Amino acid sequence: MSKVITLLGSTGSIGTQSLDVCRMHGYEVFGLSAHSQTDKILQQIEEFHPKYVCMTDPDAAAKLDAALSGRAGAPKLLTGPEGLRELAALDGPDVVLNSVVGIAGLPAVMAALEVCERVLLANKEALVTGGALVMEEAARRGVPILPVDSEHSAIFQCLQGGQEPERLILTASGGALRTWSREAIQRATVRDVLKHPTWRMGGKITVDCATMMNKGLEVIEAHYLFGMPEAAISVLVHPQSVVHSLVEFADGSLLAQMGVADMRVPISYALGY
Ligand code: NDP
Ligand code: MG
Repeated sequence: MSKVITLLGSTGSIGTQSLDVCRMHGYEVFGLSAHSQTDKILQQIEEFHPKYVCMTDPDAAAKLDAALSGRAGAPKLLTGPEGLRELAALDGPDVVLNSVVGIAGLPAVMAALEVCERVLLANKEALVTGGALVMEEAARRGVPILPVDSEHSAIFQCLQGGQEPERLILTASGGALRTWSREAIQRATVRDVLKHPTWRMGGKITVDCATMMNKGLEVIEAHYLFGMPEAAISVLVHPQSVVHSLVEFADGSLLAQMGVADMRVPISYALGY
């Protein structure tokens, strides 16, 4: 089915994999955003011909403006955090996929909820920082929020039968330092921390995996997405990352999603939903 998409954070790890999925399915790209990587977004503009782009960093925005000037069919350029909010609120796409890193993505989620049929969320920090606000607005407008984070996508898929869950179990790879002693961790370099055993991801989330902070953020993310008390959300260290998550029901049965460690799988599910 044809889809029109605005992709926020298109130059990142999730962003580029989302464009792989768009390429694979022939989805149309309405808007793209990036922060600093001008050359990368220029390549994306040449391939996907968006109508709008946003560059949030002012220096990068000026550079992109110069590169686009005089080009036939160049997209309209929006800039700064306000430009990101404006892009997310534009009528035109069927869905907005937010793969910005950090709290910078929160205003964009709120804006996308005003216009979209569905909002796709990789940007977990938007829920960690503003989960109550986001979920209340989504419910008020009747706009579903589809998780892209692999554990939450797995839970979302396990819940499609409509049964009420009793307990959610998120798996954790344990990150780059799982087998290291406390003493060795004291001497870990940035390079060590960024060497994730199973997933290739952006810098912040890879560091958050090594410290296990990512799993804390994901418990909060699951709490808001699925309306479950935090006491009913458990974490299971599973270094192979084959099972993405499990859902336990009142009768004691469990549903799990198993699969390869490739973010294009949950992205593809959310975009195709
Ligand atoms: P990356 O660092 O690879 O990409 C982040 C994207 O956000 C880039 O496009 C970057 O632009 C843009 N960006 C950075 N700072 C700002 C800012 N201040 N304002 C607006 N845009 C900004 O991150 P990931 O793709 O790894 O992660 C994105 C989100 O998805 C995070 O919330 C992460 O937790 C979540 N996630 C990621 C997974 C993964 O496999 N990578 C898995 C599950 C969840 P530029 O590059 O041009 O500077
Ligand atoms: Mg995850």
